Amino acid sequence: MTGDWVVIATGRSKRPEDFAKHQRQAVEEIPEKLCFFCYPEETDQEDDVLIYKTKEGDWSLRVFPNKYPAFARSQAMEHFEEGPYFGMAGIGYHELIVTADHYNQIANMDKELVAEILDAYQDRYIDLMGKKSVNYIEIFHNHGREAGASIVHPHSQLMAIPVISPYVQGELDGAENYYRANKECVYCTIASWEIEKKKRIVFENDDFVAFCPFSSRASFEVWVMPKKHKPYFERITDKEKIDCAEVFQKAIEKIYKALNDPAYNFYLHTSPCDGKDYPHYHWHIEILPRTANWAGFELSTGIEISTIEPEAAAKYLRKI
Ligand SMILES: [Zn+2]
Ligand SMILES: [Zn+2]
Ligand SMILES: [Zn+2]
Repeated sequence: MTGDWVVIATGRSKRPEDFAKHQRQAVEEIPEKLCFFCYPEETDQEDDVLIYKTKEGDWSLRVFPNKYPAFARSQAMEHFEEGPYFGMAGIGYHELIVTADHYNQIANMDKELVAEILDAYQDRYIDLMGKKSVNYIEIFHNHGREAGASIVHPHSQLMAIPVISPYVQGELDGAENYYRANKECVYCTIASWEIEKKKRIVFENDDFVAFCPFSSRASFEVWVMPKKHKPYFERITDKEKIDCAEVFQKAIEKIYKALNDPAYNFYLHTSPCDGKDYPHYHWHIEILPRTANWAGFELSTGIEISTIEPEAAAKYLRKI
């Protein structure tokens, strides 16, 4: 799709069970009492832009702007030049999506709570997609220190930014080129191939599928996507949220069990909100367990090395 290569180097392979034997870097356990996310008011977080409450009146999920944003809120699209260089001001929105329970990570959540997280993603997406400075909305989740999480309390992040990343642009171009040549969506083609062949499937229900991609960049990488052609995540229905939550939560739970609570990142890829149509793109979630470190080869080439075949990883995840 993107023209990128990966290396599947099974010669250095471990058995699937061996991936669970890693030593997690100790994540500092912040006592609940001092946690910024357990007590946002007491720790001077910014005001909520969204809050969901339980029937009992306690909050179950809340979204507030990041106190230390990577992109600053402003409407001014400032560009500047310096000799051969070109730059622009880092404007946009940077929000935190936080579930209430300090210890309840997605691997152990029920699907209703995961559907509520998807609902919050959609709610904030719709609110921000029309802003003048926003052309793409990145939604991602870091779990574990190796994956960049500095706070243990489960949370996702949203960054609404003025540019489309080269990675997403590569997928958009790949999908467009594939459509022109084949009159079919490349993601739909992949999904139906995987569903028919079964060998890389991790879990599925009627509307969503989780599988280890043929060109996995990391051992035990998993993608979750709607089976029907859907370019725009923000149009997800309530029923689809539950169906997606079921498959997505299972995928995370299986990775958690198979790899002994590894660090991982996941992120959502969907059509940009830059005012153009993207009828041939297909939204999906990519889950990347931190099973390897980028070293000289990966940094110099951009080619990642995975040490297990996606078929073997999927078979192991299916059974767990
Ligand atoms: Zn907490
Ligand atoms: Zn499609
Ligand atoms: Zn993608």
